[in-house]
Amino acid sequence: MSQSSVWHPFTQHALEPAIPEIVLTEGAYLHRADGTRILDAISSWWVVTHGHRHPRIMKAIETTASSLDQIIFAGFTHEPAERLAKALVSLAPAGLDWVFYSDSGSTSVEVALKMALGYFGNIGAPRSRIVVMEHSYHGDTIGTMSVGARGVFNAAYEPLLFEVDTIPFPAAGREQETLDRFEAVARDRRAAALIVEPLVLGAGGMLMYPAWVLTELKKIAEASGTLLIADEVMTGWGRTGTMFACEQASISPDILCTSKGLTGGTVPLAATLATDAIFQAHYSEDRKKTFFHSSSYTANPIACAAALANVEIWQDEPVAERITALSVMQAAGLQRFRDNPYFADCRTTGTIAALDLRTGSAGYLAEIGPKLRAFFLERGLLVRPLGNVLYLLPPYCITGEELDGLYDAIEEAGERFGSRP
Ligand code: PLP
Repeated sequence: MSQSSVWHPFTQHALEPAIPEIVLTEGAYLHRADGTRILDAISSWWVVTHGHRHPRIMKAIETTASSLDQIIFAGFTHEPAERLAKALVSLAPAGLDWVFYSDSGSTSVEVALKMALGYFGNIGAPRSRIVVMEHSYHGDTIGTMSVGARGVFNAAYEPLLFEVDTIPFPAAGREQETLDRFEAVARDRRAAALIVEPLVLGAGGMLMYPAWVLTELKKIAEASGTLLIADEVMTGWGRTGTMFACEQASISPDILCTSKGLTGGTVPLAATLATDAIFQAHYSEDRKKTFFHSSSYTANPIACAAALANVEIWQDEPVAERITALSVMQAAGLQRFRDNPYFADCRTTGTIAALDLRTGSAGYLAEIGPKLRAFFLERGLLVRPLGNVLYLLPPYCITGEELDGLYDAIEEAGERFGSRP
């Protein structure tokens, strides 16, 4: 390609001058302009669920685009949005009766935070604090960075980030500390909400914690009148083995954020689901109680139709079976790393597998990250480590053979780049 004018996300252009061009996406693969193909082991930043360009979703996009484009969503509605909202309410944990649309994971979280504060303000008992879990990631806008872990991603913007209360990550054996800390923070009833990534903290290093911790966090939240926001932007749509990760903790959050897999990874859409209590707090003849949030492309009909087709795929195809099979393959695949000296830890929840490579340097900026990426790319594999954390989060159509090839490459990477204890 000739000189580009594109500024890419999370990309240090000075160090990554050659950016491959993709001309076709298909199933588990990205096809490059040079005719070679890359196995997409991270579902293109965790969005692609069934596989790239599932025909049913692409058909829904085409069909809807023949009659609808964007429609202002304040004061107007359309069938794809109405039908999708009904479908989401029936699929989500019980009690989430209202669906607010936006366009990205970050906006769905921004909406959730505003709903939580709006709720307490509107019922006349204002609360202004948000409780967050150590190592969390909720997006890159100012609000979502504020509730995410502070570090290299947001150091430059620190002066603009708002203060939060942080509870420790519930590492194995230290779960009670997390619960005790939350109980202490929640006790003074200043916290509007606790926001968590249920079961797996994605960008924070694919850190996993057991479902019972979430169950207990919900109990504490309920007892103190603190809302629970489940950020299921990454974990939703089967990633952790169930449609939503909250199901495994048998809880219903007060607010649930979904995006990424919502359209099967085809076009941007997000939704924030909320309880009737939260909606009712905004339902008033007093206009000041209106939920003042919108983005121009809210509830884009084409995106809603894509999401509806995704829901139909879940209903009509053996998606749950595919997810179970993939989860079993991931668990079996990791077995071979249990005694591998180059990996300090390996873990899996549902379809997600992660391995901590032993290296001299850890952290997102560690030199090892780009080296590993290049190593995998040379082998036709898209694996984008989080520092020294290698993870596989593939589309559900990936085969056992393809996964085996990935584990082989990870083993080789361990020998090449890892160190022994
Ligand atoms: N929340 C979680 C848990 C995420 O993993 C992400 C993105 O990776 C986001 C929010 C932000 O989503 P988006 O990149 O679509 O804004």
